[in-house]
Amino acid sequence: MAEAKAPVLIVGSMALDSVRTPAGEVQDALGGAADYASIAASFFAPVQLVGVVGDDFPQEHLDFLAARNIDLGGVQMIKGGKTFRWAGYYDFDLNVAHTLDTQLNVFADFAPSLPAEFRNAPYVFLANIDPELQLQVVKQVQKPKLTVCDTMNFWIEGKPDALRALLGHVDIAFMNDAEARQLTGQLSVVKAAKALQKLGPKTVIIKKGEHGALLFHGDEHFAAPSYPLEEIADPTGAGDTFAGGFIGYVASQDDISIGTLRKAVVYGSVMASYNVEDFSLNRMRTLTQEDIVARYRAFQEIAHFEALSSAGV
Ligand code: AMP
Repeated sequence: MAEAKAPVLIVGSMALDSVRTPAGEVQDALGGAADYASIAASFFAPVQLVGVVGDDFPQEHLDFLAARNIDLGGVQMIKGGKTFRWAGYYDFDLNVAHTLDTQLNVFADFAPSLPAEFRNAPYVFLANIDPELQLQVVKQVQKPKLTVCDTMNFWIEGKPDALRALLGHVDIAFMNDAEARQLTGQLSVVKAAKALQKLGPKTVIIKKGEHGALLFHGDEHFAAPSYPLEEIADPTGAGDTFAGGFIGYVASQDDISIGTLRKAVVYGSVMASYNVEDFSLNRMRTLTQEDIVARYRAFQEIAHFEALSSAGV
């Protein structure tokens, strides 16, 4: 892996999650889109994190983030405030998260203000949070090389106009297939991706949970396979680790050509495939660079097939 120098700025939810899946459950565990994305990206590049927590956010979580070369200079801690909380469950269809409760808490009054040294970040990931906050961050960054955003049904339903406005300011949009259909009203994911491209982003990445991911770049398409997992405990944060691995790899290469974007989709899939093996961010605590490379190679094997001969066989 190349020496990582270009930092990735990440804004999004920092959370305490309570999650139940057929494999078990956790209460008030470390979660949040920005936390998942930052940890995943930190395997490839230095990260600058922007978010807010209450003073109920355990110090050990901040220590875990800081120990992974994540700059917490953009994280506000509100005295007497409560951290964002999400509660949900998954049935045997692990692609569908059922939300039981969303408490915005300190995010309800959050006005991100970037430290001066974050304002010229070359790579920006607007992880899932209120699209108005995502836009406030975009407006404070000077000339990034690449701006990427993610979202979820909560904001598609609650703030669709703000989300459409945000899409006019990003280069790449991530969405899962159901969200892309919901926002555009198109049943075909190809048409949905084209409709999203018309709103601004040149590149659209449609996440299909356990079934891989599709990259739409201008008129080009790329399909990354899924990894046949033996261990699966908790799909929470899969989308965010995917996005974090994606942008972390792009930043590590400091290159946004289509070849790098394709590899980044595979790295994103690698990170997501590991993250779902345990609850919360626990699998990331023991993950190594060797594990990442080994699974990248496994993905390559799975997707490899020979070209047809000139006779078509
Ligand atoms: P993912 O499974 O990748 O889609 O994201 C899961 C994470 O999103 C969880 O850790 C939650 O804390 C976080 N989350 C859930 N609902 C919201 C929301 N409305 N806004 C921001 N983050 C959220």
